[in-house]
Amino acid sequence: MTAQILDGAAVAEKIRADVAQAVAERLAQGRPAPGLATVLVGDNPASHVYVRSKHKACQQVGIQSFGYELPATASQAEVEALVRELNADPRVNGILVQLPLPSGLDEERVLSAISIEKDVDGFHPLNIGRLAQKGRDPLFVPCTPAGCMVLIESALPDLNGVNAVVLGRSNIVGMPMALLLVRANATVTVCHSRTRNLREVVRQADVLVAAVGRAEMVRGDWIKPGAVVVDVGMNRVEDPTRPKGYRLTGDVCFDEAKEVAGWITPVPGGVGPMTIAMLLQNTLRAARLAG
Ligand code: NDP
Repeated sequence: MTAQILDGAAVAEKIRADVAQAVAERLAQGRPAPGLATVLVGDNPASHVYVRSKHKACQQVGIQSFGYELPATASQAEVEALVRELNADPRVNGILVQLPLPSGLDEERVLSAISIEKDVDGFHPLNIGRLAQKGRDPLFVPCTPAGCMVLIESALPDLNGVNAVVLGRSNIVGMPMALLLVRANATVTVCHSRTRNLREVVRQADVLVAAVGRAEMVRGDWIKPGAVVVDVGMNRVEDPTRPKGYRLTGDVCFDEAKEVAGWITPVPGGVGPMTIAMLLQNTLRAARLAG
């Protein structure tokens, strides 16, 4: 069996086009363009790359973006003061604090300082808390898990009672992913570094989301035939044949898994583009909430 590809790049392209059209309509009505502010603290090279790609994506759909950078030596008070300034700035509808923050800064306090109406990353404790509670709705859902849900539901629109396994329990991917799957009525198992018999647990999954950050850890014989496999992992593996000296690979061994799974996301071109598309969608939503 050869799996169908869940083409995140193509789905994301459609979402971006829809956002661009909605932004153009807002402008035609005389409303301001939605605005996204990014806050980058320190000089983590990967964070710089991510932030740049978010600004570029904003520009392509007509969202205004504002980049703020603070040195790695910035104090907790300075970072929180910047966030409060952006909370009060009417041009800014969404605030994205690029994670991870340099050590010494209290991430939870910084995220808590973001106004929940501008929390386009969905990491504010109130938004996450609402995601976890029955009958409550967050204003924003974290972008990577939200993008994974779009891909999963494009393969399997009805998740009622399906067995879903999430590999990883991080605040930004694994845990909100599990919460979203529970809300969609899947029966969810969350695995992590202490899970026993991981392969056997994963083999029960009708839907598998891998977010561990370990290159090609999930092998073909871990996968239930016909399963939906979503690979969040983005791992750099040395490869001297590539111009950059490395290639990107997921947490799933794609070549093995595609022979067993029913649907699978590639890396790159799967979850990555969806994350940015969801950020644009959330920023548009924030602008609409603001009026
Ligand atoms: P974290 O390092 O925060 O979390 C990793 C999780 O995997 C932890 O819960 C950890 O368990 C678990 N884990 C680690 N090793 C094992 C193991 N051997 N067996 C079982 N579980 C294990 O990573 P993130 O959630 O931030 O990211 C995960 C991956 O997703 C990374 O490759 C990252 O680059 C990628 N990513 C991709 C995005 C995209 O847009 N495509 C966005 C965000 C992340 P424990 O809790 O016990 O330590």
